[in-house]
Order: sequence, then structure tokens, then C-alpha cells
Amino acid sequence: LKKEKEASKLDDAKLVGVTVDKSKDFSTWYTQVVTKGEMLDYYDVSGCYILRPNSYTVWETIQDWFNARIKKLGVKNSYFPMFVSAKVLNKEKDHIEGFAPEVAWVTKAGNSQLEEEIAIRPTSETVMYPYYSKWIRSHRDFPLKLNQWNSVVRWEFKHPQPFLRTREFLWQEGHTAFLEKAEAEKEVRDILDLYAGIYEELLAVPVIKGKKTENEKFAGGDYTTTCEGFIAATGRGIQGATSHHLGQNFSKMFNISVENPEGADKERCFAYQNSWGLSTRVIGVMIMTHSDNKGLVLPPRVAQNQVVVIPVGITSKTSEDQKKAINDGAAEILKRLVDSEVRAVGDFRDIYTPGFKFADWELKGTPFRLEFGPKDLASEQVTAVRRDNGEKITVKLAELETKIPEILDDMQKGLLDKARKDFDEHRVFVHEWKDFVPTLNSKNVIVAPWCGDADCEDDIKDSSAKKNNGEDEQVDEKAPSMGAKSLCIPFEQPALKSGQKCVKCDKDATTYCMFGRSY
Ligand code: AMP
Ligand code: ZN
Repeated sequence: LKKEKEASKLDDAKLVGVTVDKSKDFSTWYTQVVTKGEMLDYYDVSGCYILRPNSYTVWETIQDWFNARIKKLGVKNSYFPMFVSAKVLNKEKDHIEGFAPEVAWVTKAGNSQLEEEIAIRPTSETVMYPYYSKWIRSHRDFPLKLNQWNSVVRWEFKHPQPFLRTREFLWQEGHTAFLEKAEAEKEVRDILDLYAGIYEELLAVPVIKGKKTENEKFAGGDYTTTCEGFIAATGRGIQGATSHHLGQNFSKMFNISVENPEGADKERCFAYQNSWGLSTRVIGVMIMTHSDNKGLVLPPRVAQNQVVVIPVGITSKTSEDQKKAINDGAAEILKRLVDSEVRAVGDFRDIYTPGFKFADWELKGTPFRLEFGPKDLASEQVTAVRRDNGEKITVKLAELETKIPEILDDMQKGLLDKARKDFDEHRVFVHEWKDFVPTLNSKNVIVAPWCGDADCEDDIKDSSAKKNNGEDEQVDEKAPSMGAKSLCIPFEQPALKSGQKCVKCDKDATTYCMFGRSY
């Protein structure tokens, strides 16, 4: 009885679960889900966070998946220092202009001022390319394809957000150099497809692939391709990952060149380069997409624990024999799952009630709970409960090894389907400016005909910010005040009607562009 009392006291502890509604107070909800779900903890340097095993496992799964595929493309991993001298950092003018405000500098060692201040890489183009110049001596040295898994520092002044925008973040950065432009451009798209694969196949998050506008492209590059995601709860877009074609801008600055292989003249051929990066931001997008008011929901393919086995139905009246049979049965189920490569754990803590344990594992996002009690024991079955939709499924013990992976696959697919439906329903075609802001305010992103002009893009941003809305326009008070940015020019384009005007100005539209409030 004492034990039961203790347990019910601990049961009250489930109140430390998520206490706010995702749809009512999204930012408090997100903070609670990431911390209580043990994905991350806050740190005493603002904008920096600790990644705990529950989230680092997701990152490792991404690393394994991506490494296997880039290695097939001939990319090799390497490591370059995190420090970069001012002289080298400043070499590509557009590039440094883009990054300068966010660069962190080391100015002191101990008590003495450094003679030359040293920057911490915000990205490694300027760190790596002097060595590309050194290593590429003849056309036989092409292509050079290196990647590194590292962290970079961008001292962002925008509000930091766990995973989405942090001052130090983990990522991979790939840097490749080719002799032929066409080869380089093909790789840009191959990598973008892999990024879309990480989102859709691993994280069950749909993305739209496209090209960034000139305004939004990577500083110093020729053009940027991107996977754009969507957070349905806030109606905001988010840049998912980027694959840049740098053209010859950097190769000319850093002299990455060879003698013309045709050999006729002494003209130099400069390398065509790409750089591409995907960061731990992806984890935040995944969390925001799937999780709910009970806490995290993790897609099975990236979950640290896919299944938790919990003995149930044991009370003070249960005989010792019965109790042992239930616990042994649960342990046997656990063993069989582990042996068949399912990432399963058991929760045999007897100071907690099953109810407390259920809430605890739900908070941590475990995809699947298997309850094993007296009834299950008698009928040689186990009761399985899906984290995403609460569905209860009875599985015959004889079919354990086949059924559980099947249901996990089904859940993985279900999460993607649901998220895709949300994105599809909230990606709205708008052809007239009068519909633009109201559509945005209903938590949508917009696909609109656009002239392609940079000034018009700025105008769209200013005019869709809340301050510019006239009294007569209906504005949701809770809608954020920021204007709509261009998110990307989707590769998949509907046909433009002839004579179609830009959604904002008098010029003819040249393309459809996706706009939205964004992170
Ligand atoms: P970029 O080098 O600016 O193209 O960034 C590469 C990728 O890193 C982007 O697609 C983002 O998804 C991600 N990223 C950029 N800034 C941050 C940040 N402060 N925190 C987390 N991820 C970031
Ligand atoms: Zn226009």
C-alpha cells in the first residue's frame, strides 16, 4: 500500500508534462516540448544550446544516411580549422559583406591582446579555398569533393530559437570544385535531392525544392537552390537546407585554376564550384511539424527508442506468480524485438504507475508503446499504442517480429502524409494583391505570379508587413507583423497564362514564386 501511495504521489508529477496548447501559445509549447522531451537544454550563453542524446541520435541517423550517399558521389570527409585570419576572410567581397555582421572574433589570449584578431568560421569557403588552390594543379586534380561535419558560429541578432536559429550550430558543409560548369550544376541538384530525402524519408517532413531569388541567394555565389519547409502551426515558411552553385567567383579570388587542358594557349581555366549545407535546424522543423500537446512525436526512423515495452495490470492483489509471468513476458518481448533490430527499451521501474510511464514516454516522443498485462498474457498477445494517433492495436506474440516493423513503417508514412496534406492545404495560389495579406494572415504561404524584380520583392515584403495594413483590411491580431519574404521559385512551375501580371506591380509575370512569413 505504501508503494501505491508513493506511486500516486509520483503520478502527480505528470503535471510537469506540456502545460500549454500548441495552437494557443506556440513558442512556450515549443520550449516545453524540446526541454521536457529531453532533446535539448538551455545554456548560459544566449543562443547556444546543449543537444541531448534524444536529439543527437537524430543527427547521427542523418549523418549515416547522408555519408553513405555522398560517398557514392565521390565526396570525402575531412576537417579544417575553425579559425580564419582576417586577411583570408575578407578576400571575397560580396561574401564577407553578407557575413560580416555575424562573425565572432577572438581578440585576446589570456590577458594579452592578439596582434592579429582571428575570426571563427561562419562557414568555410575562405578557410578551405586557399588549399583548393594549392591542391589543384592540373586538370587531373578535378573534381575535388570534400565535406566536413563541424560546427560554425554566426552571432545572429535575430531572436534565437532552439535548433532553428542558434549562434553555434552543427552542420555539414560540402565544397566541391569541377572543371566543367555542367558537372557542377548537376551536383547542385543531386545534393538538393539528398536534402529533400533527409526531410521526407527520415524526418517525415515535406519540402518544396526551388531556387532562391537574387535578394535571398548565398552571399558571393552564382545561385542558391533550397528545400523550403512549412510550419503549419504558425503558417511560416523555413529555409530547410541550401545547395549553392558558386560559379567561378571564388575560384577567381582564390586562384583555383589549371592550364587549359586543350593546351593551345596559356589561358587559365578557373574551377566551377559548389557549396552545400544542412544544419541541426532540421531537427527543430521535425519537432514543430509532428509534436503535439502531450510532447514530442518522433518519426520511427530517427527515434532513439522506437518501442517501449511496459508491463501493466499489476496491482497489490496480483499474485507473485502472476507478477513474475507478466514481467518475464514483457522482458521476452523486449528481447525478441532487440534481436530483430528494433530499437526497443523496457520500462520495468516499479516505483511508477503505468499511467506515469505512459505520459513520460509520450513526452519523449517514443513512437510505439507495447503494454503487456494479464489479459495479454492469457491470450498470447501484446497491446500496442501508436504515439502519433493513439490507435490501439492488438498484436499476436507469434507475429511480433513482422508486425511491429510494419506498424512502424506505417506510422513513418502516416506522419509524412499528414504533414504533406497540411503543407498542400496551406500553400495557396494568389493572383491579386488584395488577396495577398489576408491569405498570409490565415497562416498560409503563397504561390503568386511575379515579375522577378528585386525592388518589387522588397515592396511585397514592406507592403505585407502589418504596419502598412489599412484600417479596412482585416488583420488577425495574433498574426505576426513581419512582411512576406520570397521563399523560393519552385522548380515545379504551373504554366503562366499569357499576359499574366505580377501579383504586386504592373509588369508582366515571368515566374511563379513562393512567398511567406518565415523563420
Ligand atoms: P547557408 O550557409 O547560409 O546557406 O546555411 C546553410 C543552412 O544552414 C541553411 O539552409 C539553414 O538551414 C542552416 N542555418 C543557417 N543559419 C542557421 C542558424 N543560425 N542556426 C541553425 N541553422 C542555420
Ligand atoms: Zn512585380
